Amino acid sequence: MSPEGIAEAGGRIRTASARSILSPTSGFIAAAGFSHSVTPSRNCTYGCLYCYVPTMRLHGGLRREDWERWGQHTTFKANAAALAATQTRPEHRIYCSPLTDPYQPAEAEYRLMPGVLDAWIERPPAVVAIQTRSPLVLRDLHRLERLAARTRLRVSFSLTTDNEDVRRRYEPHCETTAERLDAIRALRAAGVAVHATLAPLLPCNPERLAELALEVTDLDLIGDPLHVRAVKRAGATTREAAVRLAGVRGEERWLDPGYQQEIVARIEAVALRAGRRFGVGPEGFSVLAR
Ligand code: SF4
Repeated sequence: MSPEGIAEAGGRIRTASARSILSPTSGFIAAAGFSHSVTPSRNCTYGCLYCYVPTMRLHGGLRREDWERWGQHTTFKANAAALAATQTRPEHRIYCSPLTDPYQPAEAEYRLMPGVLDAWIERPPAVVAIQTRSPLVLRDLHRLERLAARTRLRVSFSLTTDNEDVRRRYEPHCETTAERLDAIRALRAAGVAVHATLAPLLPCNPERLAELALEVTDLDLIGDPLHVRAVKRAGATTREAAVRLAGVRGEERWLDPGYQQEIVARIEAVALRAGRRFGVGPEGFSVLAR
């Protein structure tokens, strides 16, 4: 983004002009089968305690104040819709977004996504996967219905726990699980393909979380445990704030790879009994790219 374009510096919502909106993928998202990612803003006003993005620092295109004040402001790419209109190609398989929630709270005010969706309705790529945890996505339901008629559209809706106390502690600015379940139901009722994405897996009753996810969807479940350095030596990982909170609350085992595997197996067993799959990591997310 060009620094000259930054407006409202110091405020919660800032804007900047981006040179490009489609980034060729690498790592996790590329392994899942996406050719490009679209990140409509830098920084996310949900500010989840565990968010991996600020741990990427400069590699995530961030500036020092972004990772030091994660969640307190965001910088929208004001020309995102215009760029999407000119840069999208029919063969693109797009993941939106690996670095922010496109329907973060600030989007309610700024309204960037309608223009991006309009650009894709006009010039559809091969695949669009929208990764969100926000019922705000329903504001754009009519556009999503139109886009679904033009391309393979998938909404990947994040559910992280069935426990409201846990949700409040680790992601205090996010909507409740009940509100998210209602949003998933509404997307599905409108005919939009929607996957429940159990990621990252926070402390929960895994069987109950799986059952809730299975009840509101009719597609395979996706998931991912909290990233930890024990198995992922480099790249994005769980923020220190969440690691500290887990320690204080006696929830460290949710960061233990052995325990995480056990939880994944328990969720998978529930999904298989219902005739569905539960895929984790890039393989799990690959159902969104097909
Ligand atoms: S919604 Fe996603 S991108 Fe935003 S702070 Fe939470 S984990 Fe990070």
